Amino acid sequence: MSRILRRQKSGYVLSLILCLIGLTALFVALWKTWPEVSSADNPFSTFWTLLWSEQLDLTPSIGFKLAYLVILGTVMLISGIVILVLSRQWFYLPAGETVPFQCPFCKKQWRAHKNQELVNCPYCRQQTYPRMVEK
Ligand SMILES: [Zn+2]
Repeated sequence: MSRILRRQKSGYVLSLILCLIGLTALFVALWKTWPEVSSADNPFSTFWTLLWSEQLDLTPSIGFKLAYLVILGTVMLISGIVILVLSRQWFYLPAGETVPFQCPFCKKQWRAHKNQELVNCPYCRQQTYPRMVEK
């Protein structure tokens, strides 16, 4: 069996955008807290405390807790990765060379293995010895 990986471009673009926004959000949160976290005795608890106390002022009236930014960034990053995984699809192809066949009953054509003999026609369901179509 040979496999083809088909990537959905729209899914890739969407997941890339989500990952970028998510990473940016996480980076901003880290950037904001870094001066205090890097000099703290206990970086993790300091980071955690800062997340809930620091405000990111988008506008003078609307404050945005850093924790929300981290949560938002993480959610976006995870959705981006999920979309990336979902937009990859594997298609299985029959191994070996395929040749065009023609059904003697309905005259329709399809591609199948060269060594295939008695088959059910995929169109009229007749059991038949399909004729190979000459090129
Ligand atoms: Zn047929």
